[in-house]
Amino acid sequence: MAHRRIALVTGANRGIGLQVAGDLAQRGLTVILGARDIAKGEQAVQQLAVPAGRVRVCALDVADDGSVRQAAEHILREMGHVDVLINNAGVDYDVDADAIDADLDRVHRDIEVNLFGAWLTTIYMAPLMRRGGRVVNVSSGAGSFAETAGSGATPAYSIGEAALNMLTVKLPVDLRPRGILVNAVCPGWVATDMGGRGGRSVQDGAASVLWAVDLPDDGPSAGFFCDGEPVPW
Ligand code: NDP
Repeated sequence: MAHRRIALVTGANRGIGLQVAGDLAQRGLTVILGARDIAKGEQAVQQLAVPAGRVRVCALDVADDGSVRQAAEHILREMGHVDVLINNAGVDYDVDADAIDADLDRVHRDIEVNLFGAWLTTIYMAPLMRRGGRVVNVSSGAGSFAETAGSGATPAYSIGEAALNMLTVKLPVDLRPRGILVNAVCPGWVATDMGGRGGRSVQDGAASVLWAVDLPDDGPSAGFFCDGEPVPW
C-alpha cells in the first residue's frame, strides 16, 4: 500500500484550520485535527465530507506544555511520524487595543498561543518529522513591519505574529539540513470568527496555507507568503 502522508493541523475545530484539515484529507493525507476541546473537534469532523478515518481528532492545547507533549506521544504511538505540521491555532485580533495603554496580561495570553504555541508544537513534533516534511506557520500581514508601518492597531496580535515570522527564519537553520521546509503564510483577510464579516472565503484562506504544503523539496524555506507571493517582512 502506498504510504499516506500524515498532517497535523492545530486549532482545527473551526475557521481556516478546519478548512485546511478537510482539504488535506480530500487530497488523500491522513489528518490529525488538533482541538483543545476534543468534543468540539469531534463535532467539527462531522462537517467534513471525507472518507471515514481520514481525519482523527487529537486533544491539543498549544499553550499547555503537557498537552502538546501528550499529543506528540500519542501521534508517535498511533502514527509513527508527521509529514506536515500546520501551526494554525491563533487568538485575539486585538483591534480594540493600543500599545500605549495595553493590558500586558492580555498581551502575554495572546503571545502564549500565537508565538509560543507554534514554537512549542514545533519543538515536540520536529523529532517526528522526516525528510520531505513541511512546517507552515499561519501568520498575518499584521505581523509585517512593512505592511503595518504607522499603524498602532492590534499590538498584541501584531507583535506575536512578527515574532512568529522571526521564528520562521530561525527554525530552518536546523530543519533545512533535515529536508524539512519551514515557511510563514498569511491567509489574507478571511471571514471567520477571528476575521469577522467581509473577508474572503475560508477556502481561499486555506489555499494560501496549502501552497506552502505543496512546495517541491527544493522550494523556498524561511519565507513569508500570501497566495504564493512573497510578503515583505
Ligand atoms: P478562528 O478564531 O476562527 O479559529 C481559531 C482556532 O484556534 C480555533 O479552532 C481555536 O479553538 C484555536 N485555538 C485557540 N487557542 C488555542 C489553543 N491554545 N490551542 C489550540 N487551539 C487553539 O481563527 P481563524 O481561523 O481566522 O485563524 C486561523 C489562523 O489564521 C490564526 O493563526 C490567525 O492568526 C490567522 N489569520 C487569520 C486571519 C483572518 O482574517 N481570519 C488573517 C490573518 C491570519 P477554540 O474553538 O477551542 O477556541
